[in-house]
Amino acid sequence: MSNKINTFDSAPVQAKVQAKPLFGLLPEELKSLMASLGQKGYRAVQVAEALYRQRVSSLDGLTTLPSALREELSGAGYTIGMPEIVQAARSVDGTERYLMRLADGETVETVWMPDGDGGECGDGSEASQEEEALDGLEGNESEFEAAPKRDLRNVGALELNGYRRATICISSQVGCAVNCQFCLTAKLGIKRNLTGGEIAGQVAAVLNRHGVKIGKDRINLVFMGMGEPFLNYDEFIRSVQLLVRQIGIPESRMTVSTSGIEPAIRKFAQEPLRPKLALSLNASNDTVREQVMPITRKWNIGQLLEAVKTLPLGKREWVTFEYVLLGGVNDQPQHAREVLELLSGMRAKVNLIVWNPGPGIAYTQPKPEDVAVFQKMLIDAGMPAYIRRPRGRDIYAACGQLKRTVDSSALPEAAPLVSIAPAATPPS
Ligand code: SAH
Ligand code: SF4
Repeated sequence: MSNKINTFDSAPVQAKVQAKPLFGLLPEELKSLMASLGQKGYRAVQVAEALYRQRVSSLDGLTTLPSALREELSGAGYTIGMPEIVQAARSVDGTERYLMRLADGETVETVWMPDGDGGECGDGSEASQEEEALDGLEGNESEFEAAPKRDLRNVGALELNGYRRATICISSQVGCAVNCQFCLTAKLGIKRNLTGGEIAGQVAAVLNRHGVKIGKDRINLVFMGMGEPFLNYDEFIRSVQLLVRQIGIPESRMTVSTSGIEPAIRKFAQEPLRPKLALSLNASNDTVREQVMPITRKWNIGQLLEAVKTLPLGKREWVTFEYVLLGGVNDQPQHAREVLELLSGMRAKVNLIVWNPGPGIAYTQPKPEDVAVFQKMLIDAGMPAYIRRPRGRDIYAACGQLKRTVDSSALPEAAPLVSIAPAATPPS
């Protein structure tokens, strides 16, 4: 892969979705649509209820509307437009990776992680607070982990209720333009932005697959799938509005991860409704970061940290810094010392992610003892540091392993849901 830097000055790639999806419209937009069809305002409320609470996947599901109105919508080209799960792969650890087909045939990947991915710990989210409270009551984490004793090979669509919580990792773009040297998604280049409806729709499709009841089951969301959410800013924010206000997942259970788009971080800091922030730091100085993330030549670490500092943090909120450990590149004690210097004085925590390998990427994994020393140095200096458990590595669902695995044009029109057998040996 070339180490070129992309310029992000040009207008973002716009979605070219031909169909007229209802999923994605905000209440006021549904109201205008209904008004344009000569309907009263309460029809918009009924449609919103069906789309976002009942999560119907076809126009026939709009049962509160008269059939003549459903036909009128259909005749005018409207569809529900929720992304469709066309393939699913299940890991031995219960993680599921989905290939989602969008209205124009493009595909993205979405990941379901039962019991969360550990990335929420200590980020000040409701999820982690509840967990800490529960841990206090129930004993330690390992005791809890031992409790469910379920057969993960059989974790399926109807089995959510045994879970304490789950995390859904969603994509924001088809591919990515950022060109991080260690990331498989980068190899795709950028195809297009997702619409807000397509981003939130991935969540709805996964909730349906697992029969999730919002309000009863605890769902965390991470915008950490394919793409750079801050290079699709407006649609990312629209998806947050839909997910919080319509679908009903609190923003305190959501984290967005960015590679560091400085102007967008400043804008994000001003948002009245926003997830928590994670910045992919991934290096302890600009020299190393420029090598692994060429985008650093556009906005360096200092500029990014200044932007992050403008974020008004909630009472129990921390900023997360993700740090992918690459063997021999950024995983040595001097790097840990530099990280501590960079983050000193910030209400921060560090998520250490052991690099997940991918074909054609010439990095190596860090030695386990280097990972342990790195974490200990941070913790000893008072910086919360967690090692993220890799999830679904055997099915290429772990961080930075998402890539469309099939050419979407090769998929039949109504592809059946198939399970891809997990790889015989994990690629690590
Ligand atoms: N584009 C955003 C969000 C998606 S990537 C971003 O870069 O932050 C989500 C996380 O996965 C980032 O922290 C990224 O650094 C990390 N990542 C990418 N490739 C990885 C790999 N091969 N192994 C481990 N983590 C990886
Ligand atoms: Fe894009 Fe994030 Fe991968 Fe970088 S790490 S190429 S920003 S998806």
